[in-house]
Amino acid sequence: MTEVLVVGAGPVGLATALSLAHQGVSVRVIEAAPRLTEDHRAGSFHPPTLEMLAPFGVTEAMHRIGIKVPRWQIRDRREGVIVEWDLGLVADETPFPYRFHLEQYKLTPILMEKLKAFPHASVHFGEEFEDAIQDGQTVTVNGKYKTSWLVGCDGGRSAVRKLIGTEFEGFTWPERFIVIGTLADFAPHGFTSNAYVADPREWAAVFHMPGLWRLAFPVHEEEDEAEVLMEAAVEARMQRFVARPGRYEVPHKGIYRVHQRVATRWRAGRILLAGDAAHLNNPLGALGLNGGLHDAILLGEYLGKVCRGEADEGLLDRYVRQRRTANIEFVQTQSISNKRLLEEADPGKRQENFDNLRRIADDRNLARDFLVRSSMIWSVRLAAEVT
Ligand SMILES: Cc1cc2nc3c(=O)[nH]c(=O)nc-3n(C[C@H](O)[C@H](O)[C@H](O)COP(=O)(O)OP(=O)(O)OC[C@H]3O[C@@H](n4cnc5c(N)ncnc54)[C@H](O)[C@@H]3O)c2cc1C
Repeated sequence: MTEVLVVGAGPVGLATALSLAHQGVSVRVIEAAPRLTEDHRAGSFHPPTLEMLAPFGVTEAMHRIGIKVPRWQIRDRREGVIVEWDLGLVADETPFPYRFHLEQYKLTPILMEKLKAFPHASVHFGEEFEDAIQDGQTVTVNGKYKTSWLVGCDGGRSAVRKLIGTEFEGFTWPERFIVIGTLADFAPHGFTSNAYVADPREWAAVFHMPGLWRLAFPVHEEEDEAEVLMEAAVEARMQRFVARPGRYEVPHKGIYRVHQRVATRWRAGRILLAGDAAHLNNPLGALGLNGGLHDAILLGEYLGKVCRGEADEGLLDRYVRQRRTANIEFVQTQSISNKRLLEEADPGKRQENFDNLRRIADDRNLARDFLVRSSMIWSVRLAAEVT
């Protein structure tokens, strides 16, 4: 019998397991896929996430292969740069005053490698979670594994969340997001390694990743996925964005449906939720996985204390209150307002938004506040204050 069974070897499941293993807690991870998945979604990490992963040696390993992004822009497709932020302004708030770019499929092998150091931790691939039955002391998973606690880190379609029968309140955006990875370099066109580009119809989010640039655009309701993904359509979209003489080389492209949802309950007895299983948001601002990793590290710490008999299980309810509050009050509102800013169609309102951003950027104190919020430092502090 293990103390904790984690469902899902995505970044949140592996980080939860690593935090527990570090505290001497026995942990088993089950993953439906045959191996770590090559997931092209998340790629931008905020300072508090780097701080939280540092004690496990993960941040150092990430720095060997990722990119530091100290400056980022908000732009308009016609006007160009509206504001350029410098995270150096918050260097007194964090040892990592930058965004950090690395695809999530390059983070999971690092987490996995670190986990291997612990004989009381194991990851089992090709094992799909089907059901769980709990009594007062144990949870029996798939009729064969007995564990004291079960943590569902099984992503947006979470079977664990469905099992506990909670509502997944919120909505799904009518637009999908297309993500295009290209070998073209946008730095010579004045782009910082991260930029958000406003446009009423075709806004964009731009990320420089190790070895390629990734761009996200909206795919509108009436557009057909197969047509949008055709080589000629992708080429035309990229040329409209930044015209260049040669063709764009595109080694990767994909379409994602995007939601804003938070589970009503994150705990049912000995079963808990973390990451996308508990909450979903649109990717503008890079808040989803970062927030999920903040769940993972806090839940790992609290569950460790409960398993060692140092804390009452009521601490797990505090985990839910802290992380649910941070998600609802920051991640949901901020990601929705980021999207509204980029897609604003009213010319007067758009100008007002830009004027406001320029006013903030010109005032050192306002700019610092803006960066403390947008880099998630504020939301971690907010959660810490929840009792
Ligand atoms: C286009 C796009 C870009 C994004 N960019 C960013 C970004 O830059 N920064 C950011 O913070 N976030 C970003 N996100 C969000 C981020 O990708 C997710 O928040 C993140 O993947 C969640 O991690 P997770 O471990 O909770 O879930 P997942 O990564 O979905 O992992 C879940 C795991 O559980 C497994 N699983 C599922 N069901 C079962 C089952 N029944 N039994 C066993 N295993 C199961 C899956 O195979 C998978 O391995 C982006 C999202 C999108 C769509």
